[in-house]
Amino acid sequence: MKTIVFISGAAAEVQSQWLTLLNHQLGNQLGNQLANQKLNEVILLPEQINDAQAKRVDIAIVANPDAKDLSRFPNLVWIQSLWAGVENLVTEVVGKPVKLVKLVDPQLAKTMSESVLAWTLYLQRNMAEYAQQQTKQHWHQLPSIMSEELRISVLGAGSLGIAALNTLKKLDYQVNCWSRTAKQLKGVTNYNGVSGLQTMLNKTDILINLLPLTPDTYHLLNKDLLSSLPQGAKLINFSRGAIIDNKALLELLANRHIAHAVLDVFEHEPLASSDPMWHNPNITVLPHISAPTNMISSVKVVVNNITNYRENNVIPNAVDIKQGY
Ligand code: NAP
Repeated sequence: MKTIVFISGAAAEVQSQWLTLLNHQLGNQLGNQLANQKLNEVILLPEQINDAQAKRVDIAIVANPDAKDLSRFPNLVWIQSLWAGVENLVTEVVGKPVKLVKLVDPQLAKTMSESVLAWTLYLQRNMAEYAQQQTKQHWHQLPSIMSEELRISVLGAGSLGIAALNTLKKLDYQVNCWSRTAKQLKGVTNYNGVSGLQTMLNKTDILINLLPLTPDTYHLLNKDLLSSLPQGAKLINFSRGAIIDNKALLELLANRHIAHAVLDVFEHEPLASSDPMWHNPNITVLPHISAPTNMISSVKVVVNNITNYRENNVIPNAVDIKQGY
């Protein structure tokens, strides 16, 4: 029997839920595909695997794993992350022959695109301002802007960025995106390079960050770049907190260059109770909820990847460790 290890920093009951779903799906899949053959694969926790067995484990499924747990499995061929963001794992595998596979799940992309639409409408329709007005019993109608006139720019055109762009296009927003490599996306103006970013920011009413956190994107949105946004622009950060230099953001919010920021992710999570961002009326704080991994759909994706590897020896598209994503 082959063994796959599941390593997670989650609470015991959550680990057990993952393990049950993964093993159930694996049983179904192998049962269907290898008709009449006995299930010959099991997914176990690190503590259920002895050192001799550990040397034979070739796949790890992980969610916030402890580095020390991973190091017990020296012959891993690939690691399947249950999250789309893998910046911490990249640090763990750098220089090692193991491949790192991030979660690419259409359900996750759909959930993110729904969040992008919801919070874009929140900003477009001045919902934060009206909530504040209500606390003061202040009756005041703010100018409204039609979606056709609103310029929305998405940083990142990966699986989540493209899903968000497709959803935004359905409402006729003017959509731009910025990626590392050039892209041709129908109905979207694509930019790349630093000068491309500057040009895009100059004509952006709402900026949405869906970039991965890498050495190149750490504090990418600094004072210079954020100042390239037109006066009164708004910002949504749904990928990683450390991509924004918060000191610069707070200054630009204070002088109203940036009118409002919706922040779902922070450099340190959870956000400390003493952090002034909690009380900033121009910031909407969300507790990292824009696109949680869906257990049911992600388990199907992961088990498909495993069976494809077992049957066809195909490792799913892996992270480019040099690029960091
Ligand atoms: P992805 O498919 O890897 O796409 C990344 C995109 O960013 C690509 O378009 C890539 O450009 C671009 N990019 C990377 N580095 C760049 C750079 N230096 N300059 C310009 N563009 C750059 O990633 P994804 O699956 O869409 O996920 C994006 C991020 O969302 C994840 O890394 C994670 O941090 C975050 N996330 C957050 C949540 C949440 O709940 N808040 C949930 C899931 C994921 P190319 O296309 O040219 O390669």
